[in-house]
Amino acid sequence: METVLVTGGAGLIGSHLCERLLAEGSEVICLDNLSTGGRENISYLSESPHFSLVVHDVCEPFHFDVDAIYHLAAPASPVHYQKDPVQTTRTCVLGAINALELAGRLGVPVLCASTSEVYGDPEVHPQPETYAGHVNPIGPRSCYDEGKRCAESLFFDYHRSRGVGIKVVRIFNTYGPRMRADDGRVVSNFIVQALQGESLTVHGDGHQTRSFCYVDDLVEGLLRVMRLDASFTGPVNLGNPEEVSIATLAETVARLTGVECRFRHQARLPDDPTCRRPDISLAIANLGWAPTVGLEAGLQRTIAYFRDRSKGRSRRRNYIASLP
Ligand code: UDP
Repeated sequence: METVLVTGGAGLIGSHLCERLLAEGSEVICLDNLSTGGRENISYLSESPHFSLVVHDVCEPFHFDVDAIYHLAAPASPVHYQKDPVQTTRTCVLGAINALELAGRLGVPVLCASTSEVYGDPEVHPQPETYAGHVNPIGPRSCYDEGKRCAESLFFDYHRSRGVGIKVVRIFNTYGPRMRADDGRVVSNFIVQALQGESLTVHGDGHQTRSFCYVDDLVEGLLRVMRLDASFTGPVNLGNPEEVSIATLAETVARLTGVECRFRHQARLPDDPTCRRPDISLAIANLGWAPTVGLEAGLQRTIAYFRDRSKGRSRRRNYIASLP
């Protein structure tokens, strides 16, 4: 049985990845400091004898005897990663070094969950892996953007100079069940606002675009990358090329939740990318991978998740209110 370490395993993508790995017969160690991930995301996995959670910060070295490492740990929502930007850079950089050191000691492959943020506010559209990006190195997003760019640089230097087996994956906007209600990203914000009967907070004119990938598709891509032979290092884009404007996303969420679409316009965030869409030709050619879940289908599943959660919460509230 293969033992796999997933750093950031209690987050959105990490928890779905742990679940898939367990289902496929792996022993899974989930390393997470629970700063943005949640225990509830993995609580039912904890019932498996093949799953263990280790609460630990990736900024500090770690050691486990494993056969492969998926290094996902980092706050990924702009709201969260900008709260303590110095810590965000530390997590991206020290976390990468600690994951690479372990992979080097054990001689096992390590996958880096990089991001479309390495392209910044792109001047090439859609973004292929050959595009070097357009990042403001001193802006409010740079703690994450430059942190991840530095992580990529470390991965390739450990590979070239120390022979570590690496896979670098650039993950575009991903959504799905287990997003936090207070995650701060647009999909969860819009769904939570719609379900609570509030206006949807559209930043700027809403003409900026993103391409949203359903989490199951993303996880499938990660597994396929890891299983490719050692000569494939990436970087490779993983994301759904179905591009929508934020205004269209708001209208879609309103329609699918059955509420009247009301916008509450807010100021556009500094350095907010104007457009984003992955060129996934490399993933198609090398992994035989492309997303299978369209935006509406994925949103419906995510809305159902948030509906269930809010019912659970109101049930809990009623229970607490009825206590003597
Ligand atoms: N956004 C928005 N309303 C929100 C949250 C985000 O209009 O309540 C916008 C945000 O300004 C950006 C896009 O939606 O243009 C995607 O933001 P998100 O934080 O989800 O992810 P990003 O791709 O910027 O990392």
